[in-house]
Amino acid sequence: MGFVTRFAPSPTGQLHLGHAYSALLAFDMAQKAGGRFLLRIEDTDTARCTPVFEAQVYDDLAWLGLSWETPVLRQSENTPAYEAALAQLAGMGLLYPCSCTRGDIRRAASAPQEGAPMHGPDGVIYPGTCRHRAWSERSETDAIRLHMGRAVDLMTTLPQYIETGVHPELRLTRAHLTDEIGDIVLARRDTKTAAYHLSVVVDDAAQDITHVIRGEDLAPATPIHVLLQALLGLPTPIYHHHRLIRDDLGKRLAKRDDARAIALYRAEGHTPQDIRNMVGL
Ligand code: GLU
Repeated sequence: MGFVTRFAPSPTGQLHLGHAYSALLAFDMAQKAGGRFLLRIEDTDTARCTPVFEAQVYDDLAWLGLSWETPVLRQSENTPAYEAALAQLAGMGLLYPCSCTRGDIRRAASAPQEGAPMHGPDGVIYPGTCRHRAWSERSETDAIRLHMGRAVDLMTTLPQYIETGVHPELRLTRAHLTDEIGDIVLARRDTKTAAYHLSVVVDDAAQDITHVIRGEDLAPATPIHVLLQALLGLPTPIYHHHRLIRDDLGKRLAKRDDARAIALYRAEGHTPQDIRNMVGL
């Protein structure tokens, strides 16, 4: 097996030190393995992604000394592939339309008989209000959810994966998937575009990714990705979840922490090697 990895930023803000660490680590690991490093622009959230941020991604990464193969896969241009994956899952009877708003979900999940609402990788676990709805009832304003119970029932054995990073491997179990993850959204209702879990799985396969290198904040979502790969008949890469870069107070960096934007360090005259030192590479 070769070594193909990727960096997959969403251009919704400036890249910060956390992104620099993730991109540099993936690039270094690919170089060391004599492998390939790809870039993917995760721009399905058209309301928040901008061409200016996207241009800055290329500029910051090139400044850091990274190079990548072209053409770059941009998710906004890959919609037919997500539609095909949805059609495949719908054909297996695993999808249903959902008209619940966030408020509906919060209210249903905190009804007195439900106890305290449970949280999964995507927030409050969906209480199943629309689960009875048929796929054929789907309308323009619906989101699309995966019927997790049916999905795990389809599998005689649940798939597993290999983790080589700092986060312990999570075992896929029926109980974890149905009770602690639940019926996740695979296409959003407002934009009708594929949700992250679906697009990431489709594109990792399309780009022949063998090693997914990303922050450990995404590790709880990995069982979802591994399950979707199995359902869609796609290969499961090796996962390497890395430590997160934190600020002085130990809080993980977010895009709004512009003080840590790479662009700012550049403007202050720091070098790419300074950035490597700051993130401990
Ligand atoms: N686009 C995601 C992010 O910006 C990363 C997805 C991934 O690496 O799987 O956090």
